Amino acid sequence: MAVKKLQSIRGIHDGLPAEVRLWQRVETAARKVFGTYAFSEVRLPVLEPTELFVRSIGEATDIVSKEMYAFSDQGGDNICLRPEGTAGAVRAYLQGGLTRSGSQRWFYIGPMFRRERPQKGRLRQFQQIGVEMFGANGPLEDAEILAMAHSFLSELGIAGLTLEINSLGCADCRPGYREVLLDYLHARKEHLCETCVDRMEKNPMRVLDCKEVSCQTQLNDAPEMIDHLCEACDTHFSGLKSGLNALAVPYHINARIVRGLDYYNRTAFEIVTDQLGSQGTVLAGGRYDGLVSELGGPATSAIGFAAGLERLGMLLAASDTALVDVAVVALGESVLGYSMQQGAALRAEGFTVVHCGGGSAKRQFKVADREGARFVVVIGDEEMQQNRITLKEMATGEQKQLDVDQLVGALQK
Ligand code: ATP
Ligand code: MG
Repeated sequence: MAVKKLQSIRGIHDGLPAEVRLWQRVETAARKVFGTYAFSEVRLPVLEPTELFVRSIGEATDIVSKEMYAFSDQGGDNICLRPEGTAGAVRAYLQGGLTRSGSQRWFYIGPMFRRERPQKGRLRQFQQIGVEMFGANGPLEDAEILAMAHSFLSELGIAGLTLEINSLGCADCRPGYREVLLDYLHARKEHLCETCVDRMEKNPMRVLDCKEVSCQTQLNDAPEMIDHLCEACDTHFSGLKSGLNALAVPYHINARIVRGLDYYNRTAFEIVTDQLGSQGTVLAGGRYDGLVSELGGPATSAIGFAAGLERLGMLLAASDTALVDVAVVALGESVLGYSMQQGAALRAEGFTVVHCGGGSAKRQFKVADREGARFVVVIGDEEMQQNRITLKEMATGEQKQLDVDQLVGALQK
């Protein structure tokens, strides 16, 4: 009888070495750039009380209403695999008693879980690199956070990204806008998709980012939040734009950005690519001045963003760099030990080296090829006697004889 093959859960996939290498490039860029802005890493739990997300993200959102992996554990506690990082960060900020310690600048890297319909760029377990800043009052902080996100993605050399910004207003101006928008939507109700009709009353702004074409065509002249901002929000938005101009960070205004979570106010933004079809948002975030107090802390303004590691990895895939610097080919049993020593010496200099294992030259060159080595170092009996090696550059096929002590210099070039 055939044994049924075990498979991972749909939408939850393995990070095999080739993909993890791409993720690590993203992580390295993040650590480097975030560090220059004095952000420190936090490591927060994957399991949180379900209530944390219900209270912060909001019951009417997609995440809370249908995407959470929530269950009661063997002791009867209601717990949940975190769907995002901000709520847990706020909890940790409060629980850690940091509200009087001045601004906190945090970043985290880790898995998030949402029971979404699996497709390209949309997984049920995915990873985010997230940033949260507590005690960030003005538009200057917004501009700097956006400049940091911009530098992070520039560091990765990904082309064709656009920063889009919007303002979501505040508790003073949003209710008025909500009414104007609801009137507009009511007049077009029969042309909207079912989901939008359902969520219209609870959260009319979500209709603005519906992906259905039928809805989007109805929204061409929809009223926009940025035309209904109160004076304080309008000043904030202008301050953000001047800050971005001063820092030479290019942006577009996109009045359709609403974000899927309830806690955002004022600044909201996304960085999008045209490379990944409809899952083109690689980084997204905004200001959430009300969340800390909502969860029981003192009034604290805050802003953050999160970037999807898998989506960024897909954009880097085309430019994966060679992993192996040098493959060592040993011609004959007698040079095996010596060739291994030469490999070890190169590793001590910081090069990534694989030994092709001896045997026929043909087989060893095949190994070097499969490893994607940039260089092959060939060592035979004669070379060993004379303290020389043959160095072959794989991309060009160029080959030369060198003294062993010239090798490191030649590789560094
Ligand atoms: P979308 O509109 O694509 O559903 P979202 O508003 O749900 O995005 P956020 O919660 O802001 O996304 O998450 C920030 C980033 O995390 C996204 O821009 C994306 O890069 C990544 N991300 C979100 N959900 C997923 C997922 N299911 N699979 C892979 N990456 C994801
Ligand atoms: Mg989503």
